[in-house]
Amino acid sequence: MSAKVWLVGAGPGDPELLTLKAVRALGEADVVLIDDLVNNAVLVHCPNARIIPVGKRGGCRSTPQAFIHRLMLRYARQGRCVVRLKGGDPCIFGRGGEEAQWLKEHGIEVELVNGITAGLAGATRCDIPLTLRGVARGVTLVTAHTQDDSRLNWQALAQSGTTLVIYMGVAKLAEISEQLLSGGLAADTAVAMIENASLPEQRECRSNLMRMEQDAQRFELKSPAILVIGAVAASASAGQACMLQA
Ligand code: SAH
Repeated sequence: MSAKVWLVGAGPGDPELLTLKAVRALGEADVVLIDDLVNNAVLVHCPNARIIPVGKRGGCRSTPQAFIHRLMLRYARQGRCVVRLKGGDPCIFGRGGEEAQWLKEHGIEVELVNGITAGLAGATRCDIPLTLRGVARGVTLVTAHTQDDSRLNWQALAQSGTTLVIYMGVAKLAEISEQLLSGGLAADTAVAMIENASLPEQRECRSNLMRMEQDAQRFELKSPAILVIGAVAASASAGQACMLQA
């Protein structure tokens, strides 16, 4: 019996951003374990599969990781084709690495399928090029949220010369702003806060490092959102954004 699990990225929300490989995996699936940031519209590609929601929104009680592991193992050992569908890319703050390792340790074949991560999609949908010759020579994806309360090296980030794309940062805006300012970034460094990237409900709030927390409050910024910090965040076409009016 084949024992295989596909760990598949569903992209940031827009169902057209799904890869052809993800569509194929979904078409072959008997069971799909789905996270709650996945747009259910992608499930048209697996009309016959059993769908099991195993979402875990930050802060909420949710399906324990060990339970998800066991579910995948059980179905895979029954010879079912299992797809574990995650928002964005499975290996960008998606536990894809952990799940793949655990499954392999239990003798299960794993195939990872990229998805478009929210940070890339959000920037693009706001016409922000994450790298730009002469402006940003790289991009750093970081999460503001840590389970063990370990600290990011904000100073190194501030001095990296790269565009910063911050995931899970909505509840930490004050800390992010303060740390990057004291790390040496200028107060007027451009910031774009992008909520529900790539979905019809997408909203964007343009601000700067100094004002970002208060602007986000007035804008009522909510999760899921990504923050793009750096000069490129000022380079997008003005006017299309739901800019805050003074
Ligand atoms: N694996 C996912 C990230 C999961 S972590 C990926 O590659 O995109 C969850 C965080 O991702 C959210 O807190 C938010 O910061 C970000 N996120 C996910 N979907 C988003 C979306 N549609 N718009 C903005 N941010 C999103």
